[in-house]
Amino acid sequence: MKFKYVIVGAGLAGLTIAERIANELQEKVLVIEKRNHIGGNIYDSYNEDGILIHNYGPHIFHTNDKEVYDYLSGFTKWNDFWHRVLTYVDGNLIPMPITVETINKLYNLNLDCFQVEEFLKGQAVDIKEIKTSKDVALSKVGPDIYAKVFENYTKKQWGIDPAELDTSVISRIPIRLNRDTRYFADRYQGMPTHGYTKMCERMVANKNIKLMLNTDFRELKKDITYDTLIYTGATDEYYEYKHGKLAYRSVKFVFETYDTEKFQEAPVVNYPNDYDYTRITEYKQLTWQQHPKTTIGKEFPIAEGEPYYPFPTKEHKEQFALYQEEMKKETNVIFLGRLAEYRYYNMDGVVRRALDTFYTRIK
Ligand code: FAD
Ligand code: UDP
Repeated sequence: MKFKYVIVGAGLAGLTIAERIANELQEKVLVIEKRNHIGGNIYDSYNEDGILIHNYGPHIFHTNDKEVYDYLSGFTKWNDFWHRVLTYVDGNLIPMPITVETINKLYNLNLDCFQVEEFLKGQAVDIKEIKTSKDVALSKVGPDIYAKVFENYTKKQWGIDPAELDTSVISRIPIRLNRDTRYFADRYQGMPTHGYTKMCERMVANKNIKLMLNTDFRELKKDITYDTLIYTGATDEYYEYKHGKLAYRSVKFVFETYDTEKFQEAPVVNYPNDYDYTRITEYKQLTWQQHPKTTIGKEFPIAEGEPYYPFPTKEHKEQFALYQEEMKKETNVIFLGRLAEYRYYNMDGVVRRALDTFYTRIK
């Protein structure tokens, strides 16, 4: 069978391209997805108790990119949710990221913004060349806060020492010299009022889009031809692992439902130094769903499983560079998204990449 456009993967990257091809180009497009649902990792669904959960971990939309926000707003309304995270340290729940409130709670002080700046200067280690995530943390907050908040969380999350991870990982967490305890400071933030899956369904509600669920591209590939393939699966799989298997960090999500309205003090509570899980999410606090029961999700990082987080280390980037050489030689295949580009993208980053790709390489 011959197609003009084929997309592998019905995650946010694939769906954005499919939507643009179908609506803006008014062309037909085939989307192949191996799972039994659309949405990729942003998929959400109602559990047996009727509570909306995120099956692949908590997803909070946040961006400063107005175009991306406007684009997705064409398919959903948003609640005015501002994400907040508490972290459990020395028996206390303290706000994350690091703010004036965090320092005051952690050390039982009552410093103002300027005093916290001085305090952190006194703690920070002078590192000439910042090369790793450990350097990032030590140079900003010093060894004590690093040990209490970052070191063990990161070891649990990634299975390796922060000294082996590149700067991008811990740099995701800002240090704020003010009292803004929101997890993200982005201009646009929120949760889709009817969930991510509903948003995705609206993106593909076009007769030009043909969806094939429960279908692995590897099984179909010999039977189809195309003018352009947009591939959002894993690149090593595409090339049949000729340069070896790329490493990903995976997570086991364990959901528990309690016969109580509220389980914890914040939508997400991090556990850097206790337990085998990194964090607990209470979904109703993200979605604002009213329900007499509540469902929480615990995240246990694991080495093998669904490929969630590409590994930001020098060694793995070098291995991916071998695949990039292959990718460059392709004439009608576009690699896009968190898996295909082996990059730790947030949702807004993936939509931005997909829109740019559409307007520069497809339209
Ligand atoms: P994916 O969602 O992975 O989609 C790829 C799709 O391709 C999948 O559905 C897969 O089944 C399919 N596929 C792969 N191979 C094949 C094949 N051979 N044949 C057919 N189909 C195939 N971002 C935020 O902005 N905010 C957050 O709070 C946030 N939290 C996150 C929490 C976790 C635990 C994780 C893992 C990610 C989080 N993200 C968050 C990032 C967000 O999930 C991604 O940016 C986004 O989902 C990436 O979309 P994608 O389409 O590139 O990839
Ligand atoms: N991190 C940490 N302590 C925390 C929260 C995060 O050390 O309490 C580190 C950890 O290495 C994590 C990274 O910062 O992987 C990015 O955190 P984020 O909350 O952005 O992770 P994600 O939601 O992408 O899993």
